[in-house]
Amino acid sequence: MDKKIEVIKGDITKLEVDAIVNAANTTLLGGGGVDGAIHRAAGPQLLEECKALGGCPAGDAKITMAYNLPAKYVIHTPGPVWRGGKGGEATLLASCYRKSLALAVTHDCKTIAFPAISCGVYGYPLDQAVEIAVREVMAFLEKDDSLKKVYFVCFGDDIYREYERVLK
Ligand code: ADP
Repeated sequence: MDKKIEVIKGDITKLEVDAIVNAANTTLLGGGGVDGAIHRAAGPQLLEECKALGGCPAGDAKITMAYNLPAKYVIHTPGPVWRGGKGGEATLLASCYRKSLALAVTHDCKTIAFPAISCGVYGYPLDQAVEIAVREVMAFLEKDDSLKKVYFVCFGDDIYREYERVLK
């Protein structure tokens, strides 16, 4: 199963995978960080499709086409905003990973790439977020054999190091 998980450095918008995950906000109408990068690279049609979705609660996920991106689909999942950890953040973040993986499978995806959801402006402590990400992906891969590769895409060295630590 370890071989199915790969940690890479780089820009998620460049990846030729079946689905990339967007750390969206609940409006699904674009924003900063990875969300902005995905919308810029996908082109205006992505926003048009997102407008029809009517938003998405934190911890849930919705799927769209990927337009000008090399990926086939974008899975939009609003992570929780970190407010100290007593507001159910961990449950919501785990749910982001589970729902995104389930959506990928129902759309026949074999490869999926995640950014570090909630680890940017949403302020989730890196070590805790990475532990949740790895735990949820491993648990999913254990019970579902259809996904062949899950990438954790790291935009910075600090996040990369954290994944390496947790996966060891
Ligand atoms: P959130 O609002 O969920 O915190 P952000 O977009 O602010 O989302 O940050 C989530 C993570 O995505 C951060 O670790 C940030 O460094 C990373 N990130 C930003 N741009 C990209 C990109 N193009 N590819 C991959 N990761 C990115």
